[in-house]
Amino acid sequence: MGTTAGRREPARSPGWSVRRLLCLLFLAALPPLAFELWAIAELYAAREAEIRQEVQRLLDLVEDEQQRIAQDIENVLVTLAEMGVGRMDPPVCQRTMAALRERYPGYMAVSVSDRQGRIWCSTEPSALGISVADRSYRREALEQPGVVIGQYIVTRTTGRPAIPFALAYPGAGGAPAGVVTILLDVGWLEGYLSGKPYPRDIAVLIADRSGTVLARMPEVAGLPGQPLPDRFQPLLRGTRRGLAEVEGLDGVARLTAYAPLAVGVPGLYLHVALDRAAAMRSVNEAAMRSLLIFAGLLLVTGGVGAWGITRFLRVREEARESRMRAATVLSSTVDGVVEVDRGWRFTYLNDRARDMIGMGQELLGRTVWEAFPELAASELRARVQHAMDAAEPIEVEFRGPRTGRWFWARGFPSSGGLAVYLLDISGRKRAEEELRGSNERLSLALESARAGTFEWDMRTGSGSWSEESYRIFQLDPGRDPATTETWLRVVHPEDAEAVSRAYRTRMLQERVPDYRLEYRIRHPDGSLRWVQSIGRIVYGADGTPLRSSGLNIDITERKAMEEALREAKAKADEANLSKSKFLAAASHDLRQPLQSALLFAGVVQAHVRDEEARGPLASLERALDTLKNLLDSLLDVSRLDAGVIVPQPVDLAVAPLLDEIADAYGPIASAKGLDFHLDRPAPELAVHSDPLLLGRMLRNLVENALRYTDRGGIRVTCAAAGAGLRIGVHDSGIGIPPEHLNRIFEEFHQVGNPERDRKEGLGLGLAIVRRLSGLLGHPVEVRSEPGQGSSFSILVPRAAAPVPPDTAAGGEPETEPAFGVEGGGQGRLALLIDDDVIVLTGLRRLFQEWGFDTAVAGSAEQALECLRTLARVPDIIVSDYRLRENEVGTAAIARVRERVGRPVPGIILTGEIGPECRDEAAAFGIAVIHKPVTPRQLQGAVRDTLGRAG
Ligand code: ADP
Repeated sequence: MGTTAGRREPARSPGWSVRRLLCLLFLAALPPLAFELWAIAELYAAREAEIRQEVQRLLDLVEDEQQRIAQDIENVLVTLAEMGVGRMDPPVCQRTMAALRERYPGYMAVSVSDRQGRIWCSTEPSALGISVADRSYRREALEQPGVVIGQYIVTRTTGRPAIPFALAYPGAGGAPAGVVTILLDVGWLEGYLSGKPYPRDIAVLIADRSGTVLARMPEVAGLPGQPLPDRFQPLLRGTRRGLAEVEGLDGVARLTAYAPLAVGVPGLYLHVALDRAAAMRSVNEAAMRSLLIFAGLLLVTGGVGAWGITRFLRVREEARESRMRAATVLSSTVDGVVEVDRGWRFTYLNDRARDMIGMGQELLGRTVWEAFPELAASELRARVQHAMDAAEPIEVEFRGPRTGRWFWARGFPSSGGLAVYLLDISGRKRAEEELRGSNERLSLALESARAGTFEWDMRTGSGSWSEESYRIFQLDPGRDPATTETWLRVVHPEDAEAVSRAYRTRMLQERVPDYRLEYRIRHPDGSLRWVQSIGRIVYGADGTPLRSSGLNIDITERKAMEEALREAKAKADEANLSKSKFLAAASHDLRQPLQSALLFAGVVQAHVRDEEARGPLASLERALDTLKNLLDSLLDVSRLDAGVIVPQPVDLAVAPLLDEIADAYGPIASAKGLDFHLDRPAPELAVHSDPLLLGRMLRNLVENALRYTDRGGIRVTCAAAGAGLRIGVHDSGIGIPPEHLNRIFEEFHQVGNPERDRKEGLGLGLAIVRRLSGLLGHPVEVRSEPGQGSSFSILVPRAAAPVPPDTAAGGEPETEPAFGVEGGGQGRLALLIDDDVIVLTGLRRLFQEWGFDTAVAGSAEQALECLRTLARVPDIIVSDYRLRENEVGTAAIARVRERVGRPVPGIILTGEIGPECRDEAAAFGIAVIHKPVTPRQLQGAVRDTLGRAG
């Protein structure tokens, strides 16, 4: 797994490890084994040298003794010869012998024989008279000077083996007269040798010159007198002492130091032999012992080693497992884990640590200071070095020199180095930074907002204010404790009451957590300032307010600004109202001349026959029409703004209202080549609205639809929508770009009519719709797709109950009835009342054109006077509303009716926008038309009125 990449351990079988460790153990045991063998070899060599020395020393010893014995015997022989034993009498000689016998041990038998070989004097009395003429040593002694050591013999007297020493003695003439012989008892010699403290395993052998064994130590019965085997001949005959490995008489190989006949004791062969095996036994034993010990040690060591190895392997396996576990844990931990040795070399990094600090570079095996030289001279290095040296855990925060990230590290020193746990705390640092920053910003903001904080204990009525709070209240932190009493001292008495009341209801009754109080305070200089306290309350379990904390903000400036704004708004409203009032007031004066112009244009038209004159006259009429429309709309807007139009909602059936629209605009649509379709609603479907104003809204929408549609058609719909009805006007016209959708309801906002061509509309239709929508509470919605068409809809509340269809409202007769300009008067008398002479003149001329007889008056009085003179009852009265001397048209008509005793049909022509005219007219059953009115409109209204009356 990748997480253990820090110390990758190949999966090897435990057997492999055991073999490897045994090999190691064997290799470790080799040098001591070699040493051991070398030591043993050395031991052998030393022993060998030692036994060589030993046998040679022993040989020297034996030889010395034999030499001494031989010397002693020789001395005796020489002495006897020189003292002239030959010349002695036998008895004298015999006494000498007896004395010798006393002085010398019994192993030496001394005999003197004469020339013939007969013994004549002897220490052995039994030997006297015996002939030894046959003995070779006697002959040799006679023939050569000096002592002769003869060969092994068996004595004739005792029958014991002996070795003869012989010396010739001179006779009277100096020639050898006989031989003095000493026989050395070989048995004694053997006993003598045996009495010496020679080491065990040593064999000492003495042989005569024929190679006959004289003595052997240890003794071997029957051996003396036996010849030595041939293998000894070279030794016997040698010329100098030597050492040889020779098989002994008993068949045992021995290391043999020998003195041949030619050296040492003349005529005797000596050797000292050592049983090599026996001599080496101790060495063998020692070697064996030491080998055994070594083997034992090896075994023990091996055993311990094997045990140790298994244990080590187990422990290592466990360690490996726990390390794996640890590595898994370490690598899965969110912390980075790093281990360094005492030389600051990275020995382990988990994946997280690699990500954190590695940045793609391999760190294992490198030292921290190589990998991050920037840290080498830092204070961090000194600190961690100290931690490592003192073996003290350490906690540090530091910033990565390259990543710029912040780390929090905990280091745990061990004998092997340092284990470090790393945590990336950049987020926390950033948060701290931000918090610090935002704290600073907050306090800056609070300061610049002139806001201070407070903490309040609601039970004791005391707490603390920040410096800024003190500044706001103009209190002294040193003198004025933060208590409710202090606060009440500052608060304006008028507001203290309101604030306490708010406090009681909000906090004690409603138990709201947040509150916001605004009150005035008095500064010591007498000035007043506004303060807003925003707070949050902590309630106890029983619901009592415990603590409160929040902000005190000086809002004096804001308050001043609000006040200024309020005033400005009031002024603006007032100005708007004044404008509207001005317009409303001016309307009468504006309408009068326009009305006259319209009327005269109508009059002139009937008289102009000349084709050349008719063109300009038509233009004049169009211009007057536009002027009238503009004035109408402006005045409508003014009237709406001035609040003089008060809606009078009633329950009304929708179908007749829409029929009327269809009747009015259907023909215009066909004339433009467009379809006009009405989805006629069910007759009983009724709404609650002001019929006139709703009609006006719909007409404006339909007029727009007609104006902005060139192909396709217009559709008027009515559909249920929740608690109301949605009346829609849809067209397939040019549509409205989305960015204009909201603005089209503003005054004079037109899409794509920068030249303000009045033929394109005045830009007030939707402004009026908007005002009416607000006034009636009928929301208007628009949806449009440029190039596809537009949909306007008005949401109207339903009537409480269905209404009979005949109560449908009749609209203001603003649309021209479809009848001709000429005719209609038929000699009827029209009483026309207006205080404006020009308008009155125009009216008179127009009515006369239409075939009426006319009577004109400037006031009600004049009208009554006029009737008196005429003695005829008028068929229709048309009066201006506002007449001279505070007279009104409705009153004038009423008086005329009173006089004639009949409800003569009446029409009020008015430039007024106030409601009273309409109300009064309605009360008297009089129709109202607003000035300026075109001749056609007037004609239509007259016909309607007469029709209804008729
Ligand atoms: P106008 O007298 O110019 O029609 P309005 O206030 O009635 O003034 O309308 C404002 C503008 O809204 C119009 O100039 C026209 O650009 C746009 N508009 C209104 N109704 C429609 C419609 N049905 N289709 C396309 N554009 C329309």
